Amino acid sequence: MKNYDFTQIPFDQIESVGQKSLLNKDLFCVSWLLGRYCNYSCSYCWPYASSTQKDHRSTELLKDTMREIKKQSRERGFNSFHFSFSGGEPTLHKGYLELLQHYADDTVNTNFQSLHMTSNLSPGKFWFKKYLEVTKPIDKVSITASYHHEFADREQFREKLLLLQEEGIYITINIVMVPEFFQKLWINAHYFHHAGLNVTLKPQSNSTATAVVDAYEPWMRDLMKKGLPQQIKTKFIQRKSSVRVLPTPKAKPDSAELVPKTRLGLKKSITDSFQVEMNASDGKKWYIDQAERFNAFGFNNFKDWECSAGFRSIIIREPDGSIKRSYSCADKPLGFIGKGFKLFDQPAPCISSSCVSSADSKIPKRKPGTKWPLYPSIEIMEQTGFGPPVVGR
Ligand code: SF4
Repeated sequence: MKNYDFTQIPFDQIESVGQKSLLNKDLFCVSWLLGRYCNYSCSYCWPYASSTQKDHRSTELLKDTMREIKKQSRERGFNSFHFSFSGGEPTLHKGYLELLQHYADDTVNTNFQSLHMTSNLSPGKFWFKKYLEVTKPIDKVSITASYHHEFADREQFREKLLLLQEEGIYITINIVMVPEFFQKLWINAHYFHHAGLNVTLKPQSNSTATAVVDAYEPWMRDLMKKGLPQQIKTKFIQRKSSVRVLPTPKAKPDSAELVPKTRLGLKKSITDSFQVEMNASDGKKWYIDQAERFNAFGFNNFKDWECSAGFRSIIIREPDGSIKRSYSCADKPLGFIGKGFKLFDQPAPCISSSCVSSADSKIPKRKPGTKWPLYPSIEIMEQTGFGPPVVGR
């Protein structure tokens, strides 16, 4: 990582972008905001993101929705899943652990399953012990721990995360670098970094989540661009369940176009820890550790690009229960929770003027007229075993 300078990436020449795990697997992604209810009231939190009123749907409805998502995804050829839960604070939903158990129980019928949550980490250690037990069958489990300096106890926050990391959970701390508190947050970021935890510095979005606020001074932008190096400290934990029934892969709509490219110019050990891959017009591949950095580079306008959001990814958002392609997309919802929805049958052009959420920008997409791969061809899936990676939890 220290030999790789993100400021060298020729963003104006990039023709395709995508998270590596989406480019290389039959992975369907769901970002699910279970509700806006949160037990913190941070001074910088936007009203759309949190509420003091409970706004959760029944656990049975959540389980039914999960079943329908998996059914439609499988009909489109995807049988690996990534579910990412957030809120509000997702751990406050009374049926949350039951929903995760339901998800974990289906792992044997999939090629791969991963689970993510964004949490303020407010539950106690006893709750997290149950969480560890329930999620054991899942191949990979990760947590983005949002550090809110006005409410969280810094030491307890660090201790819980070190315990989870020790148990094989992939941890990243997100710190929204509110311009007003920038220096204090920068010191906290170093505190966690020196404890051996990954820290991502997130620019603050505006009140409609459509752009980054403009209160940053150039030196602040510079620090956020370079950030703190990600550290790979998570140890390998053997999965509880490894027996699977592998279905036959289905043909993908444009699989004939999908040509594997050789990785150029970088040692494997460096690129392995980077989440996102990009292809430039001269055929070179570029990488970035976290899509969160794109906003700091102003790389967030993909209008007219062919995007696989809505075909291989959705978001579910409360309070209206809308199911959409993704967070930033201006498209009409694909449906509503409890009322039905239909996924796209293939990737579709982006109609939005900005793509500011990192969850959106890493969904594979390509400039119109280019043929960069958006998901693996059947041949590649067969070569790679069309299944879970060797390393997992
Ligand atoms: S805004 Fe939506 S459709 Fe456009 S690139 Fe981002 S995720 Fe894709």
